[in-house]
Amino acid sequence: MGRTILAQVRTIFGVTRIFLSAPDVRQPEKDLLMAAVDSGWAAPAGPDLTAFESEIAAVTGAEHAVALSSGTAALHLALHALGVGEGDEVIVSTFTFAASANAVAYVGATPVFVDSSAADWNLDPELLEQSLAERAAADRLPAAVISVDLYGQPADYRRIEPICERYGVPLIEDAAESLGSSLAGRPGGSFGRVAALSFNGNKLITTSGGGMLVGADETLIERARFLSTQAKEPAPHYEHHEIGFNYRLSNLLAAFGRGQLATLDERIARRRWYFDRYVEVLGNVSGVTFQPEIDDGFCNRWLTCALIDPALAGFSSADLREHLDADEIESRPTWKPMHQQRSFAGVPTVLNGTADRLFDHGICLPSGSGMTDDDFDRVLTSIDTFLTRV
Ligand SMILES: *Cc1c(COP(=O)(O)O)cnc(C)c1O
Repeated sequence: MGRTILAQVRTIFGVTRIFLSAPDVRQPEKDLLMAAVDSGWAAPAGPDLTAFESEIAAVTGAEHAVALSSGTAALHLALHALGVGEGDEVIVSTFTFAASANAVAYVGATPVFVDSSAADWNLDPELLEQSLAERAAADRLPAAVISVDLYGQPADYRRIEPICERYGVPLIEDAAESLGSSLAGRPGGSFGRVAALSFNGNKLITTSGGGMLVGADETLIERARFLSTQAKEPAPHYEHHEIGFNYRLSNLLAAFGRGQLATLDERIARRRWYFDRYVEVLGNVSGVTFQPEIDDGFCNRWLTCALIDPALAGFSSADLREHLDADEIESRPTWKPMHQQRSFAGVPTVLNGTADRLFDHGICLPSGSGMTDDDFDRVLTSIDTFLTRV
């Protein structure tokens, strides 16, 4: 109650809350959205959908793409189209957002949570190899592997791809956070059999809600497209031989997404600039480290994330978060690992302690590309004040 009144008083005096990664809406998407409304294509079909698919395909280096209502839908259809189902296991990074693992539950399969590497915070190739070897020996290989590119950083696909290929297990790249990133010259969204992208409100580009499944395998992408529109068989009447889904993106939202995509480079440059400023302010504080950029990689720095070791720093990530919150600045702990979630209690795990440590010490700092210079100064000033007090 007291907190709410304080927040209202602050707003009255002109202090508005700064969010972690608020939607950044600019003129090109407003214009394209209105043009799409005027065109009459207010439907989950139309020219902007097709154009958005080819434009995203170009950015991700994928030949084929299907625009969907969310990144979660993209992961769900990827698993469905690969034939993953009841009784199957799917290896998933434990350090991720719930959507990566929920999709596995949607098809009736069981996730196996594998831990991260401290070197890049993503799926640890050694643990992946170890769990595949163990499962191969027991004649129980997983039906797929979902590897997540956290906070924009591509996982180490130079090792993960060949491992999955060696065991013949299809790899799905959860590239929801890594649009515009790259590893060894290959773009985020180009790894594995298929990749899932998200255009949720807090991501690099947004369609308010939306996603896309991309890949080089035309049959697989066309199968996902078929499933996304209720699995309608080619016939003049409504003919169905299997259960489909209503997962197609609206043409209006695709038009909006095209406008957002046109300024992707600026959005990434802005987020990377924040990262460098945060490193200047916090990088010399003992016990504070940042998510390392993978060797020969380019990270879009969707969110700047730091680790704070309280034993060395003399303060914790929660202390910093509470200080920022009192200044009406939103920050968040890093992802709570899936193996710690009650929704996945009892599922198999292959752990090394990294994800637990990242969650205990991690903080995500405001990184929205739409933050004004004044807002960002407010964030840095608040951090400065905090550091002089601790
Ligand atoms: C955002 C996100 C998703 C889900 O995308 P939605 O479009 O919100 O359904 C999946 N995986 C990761 C890692 C994400 O960050």
